[in-house]
Amino acid sequence: MTNLENEEVKTKKERKKLGLTTTILIALGLGIVCGVIFHYFIPQSSIRDDIFINGIFYVGGQGFIRLMQMLVVPLVFCSIVCGAASIGDTKTLGTVGVKTLCFYLVTTALAISVALCVGNLINSGLGVDMSSIVVSDTSSLDTAQNSSSSVTDTLLAIIPKNPVQALANGDMLAVIFFALFVGIIISLLGRKVETVHRFIEQFNDIMMKMTSLVMCVAPIGVFCLLSRTFANVGFEAFLPMVKYMVGVLLALTLQCFVVYMIMLWLLGRVSPVMFIKKFFPVMLFAFSTATSNATIPLNMETLERKMGVDGKISSFTIPLGATINMDGTAIMQGVAVVFTAQLFGVNLGPIEYATVIATATLASIGTAGVPSVGLITLSMVFNSVGLPLEGIALIMGIDRILDMTRTAVNITGDAVCTTVVAKQSGRVNLDVYNDPDAGKEMDVISA
Ligand code: ASP
Repeated sequence: MTNLENEEVKTKKERKKLGLTTTILIALGLGIVCGVIFHYFIPQSSIRDDIFINGIFYVGGQGFIRLMQMLVVPLVFCSIVCGAASIGDTKTLGTVGVKTLCFYLVTTALAISVALCVGNLINSGLGVDMSSIVVSDTSSLDTAQNSSSSVTDTLLAIIPKNPVQALANGDMLAVIFFALFVGIIISLLGRKVETVHRFIEQFNDIMMKMTSLVMCVAPIGVFCLLSRTFANVGFEAFLPMVKYMVGVLLALTLQCFVVYMIMLWLLGRVSPVMFIKKFFPVMLFAFSTATSNATIPLNMETLERKMGVDGKISSFTIPLGATINMDGTAIMQGVAVVFTAQLFGVNLGPIEYATVIATATLASIGTAGVPSVGLITLSMVFNSVGLPLEGIALIMGIDRILDMTRTAVNITGDAVCTTVVAKQSGRVNLDVYNDPDAGKEMDVISA
């Protein structure tokens, strides 16, 4: 083949390649269209329900989520051990850890305050026709409430009684604690444990590669997830609750595009526009799966390869954030509190609002980032100010679409805090961050 022919083949191949963001966006749009067609235009039948909605779409969507979840525990464990072992001095680790924790807590408190303001501004609970809303069963919430542990128990559970069990159960805070400990000991023992250190490093490389490969099927997973959601609920379920939804979406947008962007600009001194451009695929991914935990691998890889954030920092702060930092969830809870209070005519004063802020912030600690968990912890928040649990039952029906959106905000919050903390510790490679093409290879999948 001549050089010219070679070039031609190459360009043809390039043309055949689509960015991951574009492909996921197309899959997302097609999924919504397909779901709506199934809901409105195809009559109920066993082919529609059993073969497509609960068969192909369910298996495709859940299969993809399971693939991502499969990566989480080994990836988090290995990368935290490697990160802690190579940061070496525990002082730096401590400073980064404390700073990150403070950022996480402050942004969550801020998020819920934004939500309370927005909720009160648009008065989402006034003028809602209660008769048009079917109240669902609240018994599952009562059970969840009874089993939700106290703050002290949550804190104690960070220390695993049995690390193997913590790994097997995917108990993230306990896994993080144990991995940090192992990493620090590896760095203290140095050459003596070189073999173990290299083994874990190489296993980490395997997990990173696996993440990239699994991402190639993301568009199929996203299509199936969206098709099933819209085929099941259509648009009708949303109508009576439009005001509440608008409130949550408005507060989420404010947090994501105002609060976070100001943080990046003021505290991190990096370009917010560049951040959003590069981070968008991760947001889409979180939106489709509604699972912060499953997004951990992609989030870590994006920060490292596209933004130049030191992997030793992100490997520790991202899994931690997915577990304890849920700004989007806190926002939903804030708006839900105002909505329910107005709906049931309960008066909330400054003390109640302060209680809501404190409870919602604490509730997000130790709660795994999985679908709908925000509704369960919402019962804790409602109880703290004496709101009826029926309010939760009302918003349950439409929660899926909000869950998707708030998960995107949850993981953006983790990434923003990580970028700011890493930048302040001099651990962001600005050449990579400012290079629009950095990490582009992550975006290219064969069409
Ligand atoms: N689905 C959310 C997450 O995984 C949690 C929630 O708000 O329900 O981050």
